[in-house]
Amino acid sequence: MVVAFNPQIDEHFGPYQTALAQYDRASQFVNIREDLIEYMRYPRREFSVNFPVRRDDGTIEMFTGYRVHHSTALGPSKGGLRYSLAVTPDEVRALAMWMTWKCALVNLPYGGAKGGVVVDPRQLSLGELERLTRRYASELIPIMSPHSDIPAPDMGTNPQVMAWIMDTYSMTMGYSVPAIVTGKPMNIGGSEGRTQATGRGVIICMVSALEQHNFTTPEDVSVVIQGFGNVGSYAALQAYSLGYKIVAISDISGGIHNPNGIDIPDLMDYVAVNGGTIEGYPHADFVSNSELLTLECDVLIPAAMEGQLTRSNAGQVKAKFVIEGANGPTTPDADDILNDRGIFVVPDILANAGGVIVSYFEWVQDLQAFFWNENQVYDQLERILKRAYEETYATAQEHNLDMRTAAQVKAIKRVSDAIITRGFYP
Ligand code: NAD
Repeated sequence: MVVAFNPQIDEHFGPYQTALAQYDRASQFVNIREDLIEYMRYPRREFSVNFPVRRDDGTIEMFTGYRVHHSTALGPSKGGLRYSLAVTPDEVRALAMWMTWKCALVNLPYGGAKGGVVVDPRQLSLGELERLTRRYASELIPIMSPHSDIPAPDMGTNPQVMAWIMDTYSMTMGYSVPAIVTGKPMNIGGSEGRTQATGRGVIICMVSALEQHNFTTPEDVSVVIQGFGNVGSYAALQAYSLGYKIVAISDISGGIHNPNGIDIPDLMDYVAVNGGTIEGYPHADFVSNSELLTLECDVLIPAAMEGQLTRSNAGQVKAKFVIEGANGPTTPDADDILNDRGIFVVPDILANAGGVIVSYFEWVQDLQAFFWNENQVYDQLERILKRAYEETYATAQEHNLDMRTAAQVKAIKRVSDAIITRGFYP
């Protein structure tokens, strides 16, 4: 069953309105008390901070950062840190709520959190980025610890940023605390496979969806990917290595298109020496980011940012499958359009959960100081994600729901069960 959203909602609605609209839709199908449904709409705790950073020229600039803990019902809160000029309190709230559902859906003992700093990291020198990160990390100390809130990378942050956070926290404590963040470099307690995990998980979900619909010959399946950062590039590499044909890719500079397929290892080499962007890649034609989303293809993987598939372009999407690498790439009304058109959407909280799953493995390894090899990580990742995919699909079939609503129904039920079991303090 597809429940239509309020037609007043349009693509200008922000991510938090999207998250709440999705929640309101799904919670109708969870058999729980009304007051509990209301309870889970709220973030548990919100933190905002304004802090100074010394620029290389000696001047001081003020920056604003946030951290939201949406839920801690299932365990410590977990979620990434984003560095972007688009960071707002509402965006962080939405991302924290999605983390709650994502962790619950894949059955991790975590609640959901998210953080961010309003900054374009590309405008800072390495030293400025380190000073900003260390100051923001030290501001977070009252609300983070390996047992309460564990950050990880997201847009605009990377393993080096996580290393600085780990070091800042460890210096304050007086001893090394690798489990304070995940997504760290390998030589200080990072996990095998964490960098590749989200992209790899996206492709595990893509293959599950394709095979279920009898698309079993990878060479015959064309894939378009928006975003060529951590998620997009490793999704592209994994799909390429399995034989799928990646026909278009984009990043912030625009897109490239080659109907015969793009050589992903070659593109990664090009990006590495081209200032981190695909701009000017010689073996493909230019397409704009908006054209890219409506190109002829079998699979579309939005892996850049939220709010990309909207009421304006969802009707022109030609893909048969949308696998959401990014968080919140589809607005509620675009969801309705895609569902009505029979396009199979694997939602973000399932498709990109590979990142938090391997973050969980990293945290477990750090707490035990005992490390796994790459095969162990990938085997466990695949086992957990495939199980979550099958459970979501079964829920969708059972209640005649789309995959997003089904995923949220399962997650909301797990969180509400935990809240009921724990009881209401005091
Ligand atoms: P990233 O910063 O590594 O990469 C983002 C990519 O998107 C870059 O290639 C950038 O150029 C591109 N981009 C930015 N704005 C764009 C635009 N307007 N049009 C097209 N491309 C644009 O970030 P990431 O870690 O790959 O995260 C991407 C998305 O995946 C985000 O929504 C993030 O929340 C989500 N996500 C990330 C992880 C993770 O482990 N990194 C896990 C789950 C979800």
